[in-house]
This record gives sequence, C-alpha cells and structure tokens, in this order.
Amino acid sequence: MEELQIPFALKAAPYNLFSSNFEELTMRRILSIILFSAICLMEANANLPFLPSERPKKIALTFDACMTTGMLKRIESGTDPALYNAAIVDFLRSEKIAATFFITGLWAEKYPNVVKELAAEPLFEIGNHSFSHRGFVDNCFSLPNLPENEKESDIRKSQEILLRLTGKKATLFRFPGGCFSQSDQGLVKNYGLTVVGWSFASGDAFNPNTNAIVENVLEKARSGAIVVFHLSGGRYAPKSAEVLKAIVPELKKRGFEFVTVTALLKMNSQSMISGVMSPDEKVKINRYPSVRMK
Ligand SMILES: [Zn+2]
Repeated sequence: MEELQIPFALKAAPYNLFSSNFEELTMRRILSIILFSAICLMEANANLPFLPSERPKKIALTFDACMTTGMLKRIESGTDPALYNAAIVDFLRSEKIAATFFITGLWAEKYPNVVKELAAEPLFEIGNHSFSHRGFVDNCFSLPNLPENEKESDIRKSQEILLRLTGKKATLFRFPGGCFSQSDQGLVKNYGLTVVGWSFASGDAFNPNTNAIVENVLEKARSGAIVVFHLSGGRYAPKSAEVLKAIVPELKKRGFEFVTVTALLKMNSQSMISGVMSPDEKVKINRYPSVRMK
C-alpha cells in the first residue's frame, strides 16, 4: 500500500501481470488520465467563446430610435431630415435578421406607421426607450435633464403609445444614454420592464467612418453580446445601414446567429454555463462617446 501512494509508482516494476500490485497501479494510472482530461476540458470550457464550437454563437443587434423635443422641432422646421433610416429595416428584413428596437414615445408619435410595421414583423421586437429621451440622472452627456417628478409619467407615456401602436406590452426598457440610478431602475421594474443596456456600442453615433465602425463591431463581437446601433440616420447615425451590410455577412461566416434581446436573455443560463457573459455584463453601462442630442 505504501508504494501505491506515490503517483505513477515505478517501484512496482518488474510487473507481474497477475499480481494485485499491477492491477492497482494500472487503475491509478487510468484514474490519473481521467482526472487530467477532466481538468483540460474544464479549462477549454472557460474559453469556449474563443474556440471553435458546434454551439451556435448568438448576438443581439439593437437599434435605438432616440428623439428629444429639440430633435423633433428640428425635423419639423426642416433643419434636420426625417430621423428614420429605412435602409436599416429593409436590409434586416431582406436578410431575415432578428433585431430589437428601443423606441422613444416622441419617435413613435412621429412615425406611427413605421412602429406598426416593425411590430408586425415576427423577427423584430420593440422595447421602450422613454418618452422624450431625457437623462434620468444629471449630466447624462448633453441630454436634457428629466426632473424626478416626471420620470414615472415619461416611462408610462411611452408604454401607452407603444401598446396602442403595436398591440403588445413592451417588456424591455433602455435608459437614454444608459444613465440611471437604482431608484430609476425600480420605477421601470414597476411596469414589468427589464432594463437592458449593451455589451458594447457599435460607434455609429455621429460617425461618418464606415470602416472604423465595422472594425469596432467585428473586433468586439462575441457570443452573448448586445450591440447598440441607431435607427435615426441623418447626421445622428449616417452610416449604420452600410455598416450592417458589411458586418452581417462576416458575423454569419464566423458562425453567429442573430437573436432578439428577449431570446438572448432566455438563453442566459446557457451562456453562463459556456462562460460567455454574466448577466451583469449584459446590463453594463457603456456610454455614447459624444452624443449631442439636446
Ligand atoms: Zn437613445
């Protein structure tokens, strides 16, 4: 017994095929190999997103339809063009790409027929992006500030407009600029809404450099990620459609499947098992680099 406490005990040689010593030694070796293989597998699992895997990789493309009263005024005065980039939706439809749209109440009132069309498309889902795209906390970039006593009605108004136009109660909420306090999160939860942030921003806001945005997205894309784009077009997000046309075929080639945020949240436990992302990362607050939306 003494000898067998030494791993791979060589003192047992020369082996006698029929000795109990040999059998025990062989058993030890088999167990050691099994243990070693198990450790290797565990390590491989920790890095699953970076290894070829038969498991489909999932990514959620999201599109924010931001609108402040200032933006609305500029459309109505003719200073800004329509803040709806139809080329994005046309492309998603033609490629059958699932997507999630976070829509402000002001945007929905301006483009009610678009909201109805998006709601009628089974690939798409619509979330609430507040009514007037004001900052829930002070100094949320350059967004106008939303006073404490208007927060609840801002969330509710948008819920009501979206329900009226889509016939469905929105279940997801994204804070304008990703800025919120814990009590704001509580207000949103009271409406049965789940707060959704993003894993990384595409960088399409105010960015005329298609290649830079494409590179950014392809570099950061990983299974379980939620990516932010903007539906506005115009000077707010001039290249989003071009970017999509470049990244979608490449992501498909890399084995990504496009899913809605709801579908991604449902597979969350699976994501945890394969080590792709924690739920905290999914609502991590990133910030638009240079939003000017007053
Ligand atoms: Zn927004």
